Amino acid sequence: MTGRFEGQVALITGSSRGIGAEIARSLAAEGARVCVTFRENEERALAVARECGEALCLPLDVTDRASVREAVALVRERFERLDILVNNAGWLVQEPFLDITDESWDRTIDTNLKGTFLCSQEAARVFLDQGEGCIVNVASVGGQIGGPKAPHYSASKAAVLAFTKSTARVLAPHVRVNAVAPGFIRTDMYEDIVSRTSEAAILAGIPRARVGETADVARAVLYLASDEASFVTGEVLNVNGGQYMA
Ligand code: NDP
Repeated sequence: MTGRFEGQVALITGSSRGIGAEIARSLAAEGARVCVTFRENEERALAVARECGEALCLPLDVTDRASVREAVALVRERFERLDILVNNAGWLVQEPFLDITDESWDRTIDTNLKGTFLCSQEAARVFLDQGEGCIVNVASVGGQIGGPKAPHYSASKAAVLAFTKSTARVLAPHVRVNAVAPGFIRTDMYEDIVSRTSEAAILAGIPRARVGETADVARAVLYLASDEASFVTGEVLNVNGGQYMA
């Protein structure tokens, strides 16, 4: 296999399914050796890893410092380097504002924001040691427009955007940090969203008049992770069919 990521190693959080799985497959198809990670769906993660050539498949709970540290160490032990971190793992529960419990708030913030922090920090130790590396965070249009059905999720994703810009400065000049902000993308998460509304209502707000596919997001992530984006850092790339235009 040849491609833009030949010789590089990528760790993709939450890559057992959905957007993360597609990112892992796409990076591998372009030559990267990837680490596919799962929180509980080991079978699905193993199936993804089998499609990714020389890949590692590891359990990784992004909310747990020890788990993150161990995964990063195992990737380095196996592949002797780490070039790309994709902070993709996410958690969304749509619920009325007055029903949000402390537990639901904490799980959402811990997965989406603290997880991004923990993985970025542990990967950054390797990147700074190597003298190069790059991070792509998967945020959300919800963090830009303030999704009405998940204030905790929207807050966490807005914070990921600020964290992206901050770490782009902190880790410069050798480490680039960027984000993609997907709109509606057809995954398990989307199926849950659409079950509480209608696809027609969703499509009415998307100028491109379709729901996104995981490949739409993966292509944007690969661009940001590639050398083609070597002068791009602290940027947010919207992949939303025009639902929100910055
Ligand atoms: P899915 O719900 O389909 O998959 C979520 C992934 O995250 C799974 O691999 C899951 O692992 C993993 N995960 C959940 N919690 C943890 C945790 N604590 N530690 C490690 N991994 C965890 O999500 P999508 O593929 O739809 O979304 C991927 C990213 O894109 C998320 O950050 C999401 O917020 C964002 N996004 C998605 C949109 C959409 O419409 N789909 C829109 C905008 C943003 P496991 O399978 O083991 O449970």
